[in-house]
Amino acid sequence: MIQIDLTGQVAVVTGGSSGIGLAAAELFLNAGASVAICGRDSERLARAEAALRERHPQAPLLAARCDVLNAADVDAFAQQVQTRFGRADMLVNNAGQGRVSTFADTTDEAWREELDLKYFSIIRPTRAFLPMLRDAAGSAGSGNASIVCVNSLLALQPEPHMVATSSARAGVQNLIRSLAVELAPQRIRVNSILIGIVESGQWRRRFETQAQPGQSWEDWTGELARKKNIPLGRFGRPEEAAQALFYLATNLSSYTTGSHIDVSGGNARHV
Ligand code: NDP
Repeated sequence: MIQIDLTGQVAVVTGGSSGIGLAAAELFLNAGASVAICGRDSERLARAEAALRERHPQAPLLAARCDVLNAADVDAFAQQVQTRFGRADMLVNNAGQGRVSTFADTTDEAWREELDLKYFSIIRPTRAFLPMLRDAAGSAGSGNASIVCVNSLLALQPEPHMVATSSARAGVQNLIRSLAVELAPQRIRVNSILIGIVESGQWRRRFETQAQPGQSWEDWTGELARKKNIPLGRFGRPEEAAQALFYLATNLSSYTTGSHIDVSGGNARHV
């Protein structure tokens, strides 16, 4: 088994209070990294922090309230990381959620909100953490500096019932590629994961409103996986997406940039 020791390195995970982000925070802690997570809902954040502390009592962990769409919040979060840990080696741009709407029912305001969320959830944290990532990549740093963005298979395979999300996801994938080329000379790698359907907070919330009375989570997700023709026949688990994030964030992928890993259970139709 390959083991990687991240002692002394700092991983920052936006939206680390639930789902994929929380699973990623756990992996970084397991590998000895210091971890900073953020989210908007203070109670959810406190629950996530308590759960992580229960399993990692001595862990260097920072949980900060921050809305990635608020520039002042993001700058304050970066400042907190600088003050607490003095560095950032890996940034995981994960915060966000999808929007279910067709072209017919997406208003101008909804389009703007969706484009704002998908773009600025990457642009703002990247800008705020870049100075620390540059230091990490420099000669006195760890030599590993990376950004990994959680993106969706919708970037390459749009779904008409998620028209705005699909379109924004495609644009963001293009942005990630540009960032990778611009930051490569500074030895900062930039990659993404393209996920299909992963069990997480947003799907739990949909289950609560959409499942038939008495229908179990397993039945509901199994039925959806069949309807969506997912070859592996099930939703992904947050830790499966997190493992791909971990690979791209760490030196395990030291010669990979501007690339992505598909975590869709085989749902991608292209070669
Ligand atoms: P969860 O709802 O479980 O987690 C989302 C996390 O992001 C929470 O910690 C949430 O906390 C945080 N968050 C959301 N908006 C903001 C914001 N503006 N600022 C700061 N934090 C925010 O969902 P997932 O784990 O599934 O989602 C992770 C990422 O994966 C998202 O970007 C999502 O769009 C993407 N994705 C997920 C898919 C899936 O099937 N699960 C499919 C395709 C993409 P809080 O609400 O308290 O702010």
